[in-house]
Amino acid sequence: MTKMLDIQHLKKTFGKNEVLKDISASVEKGQVICIIGPSGSGKSTFLRCLNVLEHPTAGKILFDGTDLASLKDGKELDQLREKMGMVFQNFNLFPNMNVIENVKLAPMKVKGISEAQAEKTGLALLEKVGLADRAKQFPTSLSGGQQQRVAIARALAMDPEVMLFDEPTSALDPEMVGEVLKTMKDLASSGMTMVIVTHEMGFAREVADEVWFMADGYLQGKGTPKEVFEHPTSERAKDFLSKVL
Ligand code: ADP
Ligand code: MG
Repeated sequence: MTKMLDIQHLKKTFGKNEVLKDISASVEKGQVICIIGPSGSGKSTFLRCLNVLEHPTAGKILFDGTDLASLKDGKELDQLREKMGMVFQNFNLFPNMNVIENVKLAPMKVKGISEAQAEKTGLALLEKVGLADRAKQFPTSLSGGQQQRVAIARALAMDPEVMLFDEPTSALDPEMVGEVLKTMKDLASSGMTMVIVTHEMGFAREVADEVWFMADGYLQGKGTPKEVFEHPTSERAKDFLSKVL
């Protein structure tokens, strides 16, 4: 097994607030990791450290062998970031662009791919997320679930090695959660490496290779869904799971 991400003693503080205290974990190629845990426990901060939207205070993040934490903002870091797709809770689509423009912008601007090629790849991705017929519509005319699927297609357009998801269904009306989870499940089946912060315990149980339980700045549980959900080792995890399962 190849370690795609190897996180070693990661620490992140904001002023006096020690959010991530000492986190070590690794993600292998093709693995699907679901991160669960109480609100405020540092899950978003952790994901943002992985692609260095936040610079770690200490520790290492080896991505294909390069320590991202040691890199300053600049070209090398940007090029590595491009290999990580990120999907946020609130979609973050560009409101002034239609769907296909949203999807093809980064490949053209960042990778210098021709418009014709970006259009072709973009349409294929929209097809994959079930939205090929919406290519010319603007984000505001789409439902939340459709917008999130566009956001997933847009991230995939950069041909990332790993996809990071931060509560991708938390902002959706309940009836739209399923379609986004389905898209993510298809992506997992296709072999994509994924790190997903989620409150969807059913999804985590079904799709994750590993579940990580984060609380108080540490990973307080790590294992297969069965291990983490059925045999939680820490009191903190038992208490959390008793509330969400
Ligand atoms: P979660 O995603 O698990 O709910 P977060 O990572 O969003 O948790 O937040 C964990 C802690 O980090 C919170 O106390 C939050 O206030 C703090 N925090 C997150 N981002 C910042 C920031 N940019 N500046 C200061 N504090 C932050
Ligand atoms: Mg969060």
